[in-house]
Amino acid sequence: MSRETVFIGFGSNLGDRKDFCDRTLALLSLLPSSEVTGVSSLYETEPVEDGAHPGREWFLNGVIRLETDLAPRRLLDVCREVEKALGRDLDHRNGPRTLDLDILFYGSRIIDEPDLVVPHPRLHLRRFVLTPLVEIDPEWKHPVLLKTVKNLLDHLTDPAQVRRVESASGSRYGSRPTCSPSSSTLVRNPA
Ligand code: ADP
Ligand code: MG
Repeated sequence: MSRETVFIGFGSNLGDRKDFCDRTLALLSLLPSSEVTGVSSLYETEPVEDGAHPGREWFLNGVIRLETDLAPRRLLDVCREVEKALGRDLDHRNGPRTLDLDILFYGSRIIDEPDLVVPHPRLHLRRFVLTPLVEIDPEWKHPVLLKTVKNLLDHLTDPAQVRRVESASGSRYGSRPTCSPSSSTLVRNPA
């Protein structure tokens, strides 16, 4: 199995969106035979009605880059498991979502199967995907369109708004507690 560079897009527009994004990154960083090599900022993005009906709540979106030995289908299974673990309502897939994970690129592989299409067929039309992609790897080339993601973003007409969220100090996304408990949360031995 050869190591490939993979980009996964994530988005949440239901519940504690930032917490879902944090947990997604934590889970993906634990994958076997894989290493996280890039994480974009978080972006607050206007919901887009292209087939789905995600409601009016804005999304938090971002992109993560991995070097991985996991095969594409194995990665799709992982994405579905993580979506499920974080409470995605699979009976109403097109509605608001706690978490949506999309495999954007799998190296320069082109996959066209009933339940797995890579590169993701709508990524080049979406500002909320291209903006974080360009942040972490502007020169990455789309293997079908043969253009860099920066070039695709520069020529994009998608009117939907995308605003970078300033991350709080501390960890990249700011909201996860550290591992060591503060003194107020220490459990004291009653003996
Ligand atoms: P969307 O992301 O388009 O809003 P869903 O998250 O409901 O829609 O995706 C539904 C299905 O899309 C998944 O179960 C998966 O089989 C399929 N799919 C096809 N290509 C991909 C891909 N590149 N990444 C993730 N899912 C994909
Ligand atoms: Mg999806």
